Amino acid sequence: MSFAGKSVIVTGASSGIGRATAEHLAKQDANLVLVGRNEEQLQNTVDLCLKATQNVLKIVADVCIEADAERIIQETIAKFAKLDVLINSAGIIGSGTIETTTLDQYDRIMNVNVRAIFRLTQLAVPHLIASKGNIVNLSSVCGIRSFPNVLAYNMSKTAVDQFTNCVALELADKGVRVNSVCPGVIETELHKRGGMDQEAYARFLEHCKKTHALGRAGNVEEVAAAIAFLASDASSFITGVQLPVDGGRHAMCPR
Ligand code: NAD
Repeated sequence: MSFAGKSVIVTGASSGIGRATAEHLAKQDANLVLVGRNEEQLQNTVDLCLKATQNVLKIVADVCIEADAERIIQETIAKFAKLDVLINSAGIIGSGTIETTTLDQYDRIMNVNVRAIFRLTQLAVPHLIASKGNIVNLSSVCGIRSFPNVLAYNMSKTAVDQFTNCVALELADKGVRVNSVCPGVIETELHKRGGMDQEAYARFLEHCKKTHALGRAGNVEEVAAAIAFLASDASSFITGVQLPVDGGRHAMCPR
């Protein structure tokens, strides 16, 4: 699987799944555009990628800011002259039920997880049509299954899946593929940033031994490999799918 000559945008590249995907694609010779807000953390990802390729563009940007989204696409085209793959990995989580979720939290989650993907994709599409490229969105097992107490997050990921499928159909005859990956619990900073303390997170990971058929949480490399597959020509006849990368969690039912 080679990405030589392909330019790939990865949002949320300063940590977690985005960082692992950047590293994975660097080893496959991609021309990388790495997007994140935290310059120091983003530079750490750049340094990891530079071990494998020199073709790395760092863009410090907030995907929710319209001018930043425009700059991401403009700087990508200025540097690499084209765009082949958009990987929408930036995302946030927060817990809350219908009784406890504030409108402010709802708006924050929807803005990052849905609205920002919608806008960046819109800006990327003309370039993806020109290159007959593809898009990989980060959904979640929360997009395809329902869990209590993560209401806004679950809604946002289901919206990502519907967005993925609609855009896949809209762009199919233009040669652009659109897919999502739906990870189960993956060890990253996501849940702690979303409010879980270290102790609660340790208990949550322990509980994953029961909630994932394979008996554990996943790791970022396992998701990066699935994203790379969907972004590559190896999946040339695959569009509009939600690929679970969740140790079988989506197939489980309480009994
Ligand atoms: P993470 O917190 O390590 O990475 C998310 C990144 O997105 C962070 O670097 C964060 O700073 C960035 N980000 C957030 N808001 C942003 C904004 N407005 N502009 C630019 N960047 C922004 O978490 P992760 O686990 O790597 O999450 C990546 C994606 O995978 C998310 O969409 C998440 O919902 C999804 N996901 C994660 C898990 C999991 O268990 N970790 C499971 C399913 C899906």
